[in-house]
Amino acid sequence: MSTENSTQKPFTIAIVGGGIGGIALAIALRHQHVPVQVYEAAPEFAEIGAGMAFGPNAIRSMELIDPAIRKAFNTRATKNGAKEDEATWINFRCGLGEPDLIAKVQTTDHDKTGLSSVHRAHFIDELADLLPEEIAHFGKRLVGLATLDSGKMQLAFEDDTTAHADAVVGCDGVRSRVRQFLLDTKSPLEDLTFSGKYAYRGLISMGMAKEALGEYLSGNSQMYLGPEGHILTYPIAHGKVMNVIAFKNQDTPWEHESWVVKNQGDAFKRDFEGWGKPVQSILQLLDSPDQWALFDHQPARTYCQGRVAILGDAAHASTPHQGAGAGQAIEDALILGRLLGDVQTQGASDIPAAFRAYDAVRRPRSQKVVTTSRAAGLTYAFQGPDGGDVAGIQEELLQRFQWIWEEDMESQLAQATTMLRGERQVAVGTGRGLVWGWAAVWKQVLEDLVSRVLVFIRGSR
Ligand SMILES: Cc1cc2nc3c(=O)[nH]c(=O)nc-3n(C[C@H](O)[C@H](O)[C@H](O)COP(=O)(O)OP(=O)(O)OC[C@H]3O[C@@H](n4cnc5c(N)ncnc54)[C@H](O)[C@@H]3O)c2cc1C
Repeated sequence: MSTENSTQKPFTIAIVGGGIGGIALAIALRHQHVPVQVYEAAPEFAEIGAGMAFGPNAIRSMELIDPAIRKAFNTRATKNGAKEDEATWINFRCGLGEPDLIAKVQTTDHDKTGLSSVHRAHFIDELADLLPEEIAHFGKRLVGLATLDSGKMQLAFEDDTTAHADAVVGCDGVRSRVRQFLLDTKSPLEDLTFSGKYAYRGLISMGMAKEALGEYLSGNSQMYLGPEGHILTYPIAHGKVMNVIAFKNQDTPWEHESWVVKNQGDAFKRDFEGWGKPVQSILQLLDSPDQWALFDHQPARTYCQGRVAILGDAAHASTPHQGAGAGQAIEDALILGRLLGDVQTQGASDIPAAFRAYDAVRRPRSQKVVTTSRAAGLTYAFQGPDGGDVAGIQEELLQRFQWIWEEDMESQLAQATTMLRGERQVAVGTGRGLVWGWAAVWKQVLEDLVSRVLVFIRGSR
C-alpha cells in the first residue's frame, strides 16, 4: 500500500465507481500523494466470475502506476500451458469442420506476455487490498453532480447523502451517470449503440475441458471463427478453469430491457448448430449460460469539463473483440494519475488543465480501440473486408493488435506532462512545451483519421 506523507497535494479527488478503472486510478493517485475518496454503488468492490486478458501495454501501465499492481497481477496471472504458446495471444482457428489454424497471433515483447489472463473477481480483490479501507464508501450510487460557488464539486447519492471534493472522475462504467452530466445527455443510454452481437459466458473446470478437448486446445488460448459468430476459450485461475465466451450476431435491435438475459435454455446450442467438433464439445459443457448484449459508445466529444472527467468504460466502452477495454482503463489511470500528481500542480486551479491534457492524449487512442474492436468483431464473423477468405483474415489478424500492445507508455506520459507544463508556460508567457505537446497530439489524431479512412475504404471494397 502506498504511504501518505507531508507532500500530500492540497486537493481531494472523488472517484465515482470502484471497478478496475476506478481502483487503478485510486492506487495511482495515492502513489502520487493525491488525496482520494472512492464512491461505489455496490456493497463492496466486486467483479463477475469470468476471465479477463491483458496485453503488454496494460501490464506495462500497471508497473508504471505502482509496481504493487504489477505484483498483484503476477500473483493471479495465468498464461498458456504449452511452451510453444508462451507468447501466443490467440490461436485463431476455423470453427467449422476441422479446427485448422488460421493465425497464431503472438506478442513480440521481451516478457513474452502472450495472453496473460486473470479471474476478474480474484484480481479485483488483489487490487482492493492495495487501498486503505477508509477511502472506500459503499452503497453510494451517484445521482447528482453540481459545482458550488467555491468551485468545489458536490456529489449527491441515491441514499440522500452528499460528499464534496475538488474534482470528480467518473469511473462508473458503460452506463455512466458522470458521463451523462459531463456530456449533458438525456440518459446514460443516449450515446450507446447495440453492436449487433451478444455473448454467452461460462467457466468450465479444466479437468472436464481437457477430457472433451484434449490438453492442448483446453490449456491454450483459442478462438474459433465462423459465419456470424466466434468462440473464445483460454485458461484462467492458474490453469484450473477454462474461460469461454461465445459471440453471436443479432441483426435486429436489442429489445430486452436488461442487457443480461437469463434462462435461454438451449438457445446457445442452436446458435452454433453445424459448427465443428471442438465447438460442440465446449457447448456441451456449458449449463444454460446467460446472454450478454454488447454495446459500445459513440465517440465522446471530450473526456472532461471543468473539474469533472471520465475514465475507462465511462469514457470509451468498447466491444471486447480485441481484449483491450480494461487495458485502456489502466492506461487512462496511469496518465491521469501522473498528471494530477504532477510536481508543479500547486492547487485545485490546475486540475482543469490536467484534465485537458489527459483528454488530448487519451481520447484519440482509446476511441480508436472502440472502432477497431467493432471491425475485429466483423472479421471474426467472416463479415470483414476479406469475408471468409482465410488468407486475407490471416493477414489482417497478424497485424491487427500490434499498435495496441506496442504503445510506448513512457512517451504517452511525457506528451501529457509536456502539455500540462506547456499550459503553465503559456500562462507565464512562453509556450514551447504546449506547441510540442499539441503537435504530438495532432500527429496521433491525423494517424487515427488516416486509419479510419483506410478501414472505410477497405470496408466498401
Ligand atoms: C464479454 C466481455 C469480455 C471482456 N474481456 C476483456 C478482456 O479480456 N480484456 C480487457 O482488457 N477488457 C475486457 N473487457 C472490457 C472490460 O470488462 C471493461 O473495459 C472494464 O471492466 C471496464 O472497467 P471500468 O472500471 O471502467 O468499469 P466497470 O468495471 O463497469 O466498473 C464500474 C463501477 O462503477 C460502479 N457504478 C456504476 N454506476 C455507479 C454510480 N452511479 N455511482 C457509483 N458507482 C457506480 C459499478 O458498480 C462498478 O463497480 C470485456 C468486456 C466484456 C463485456
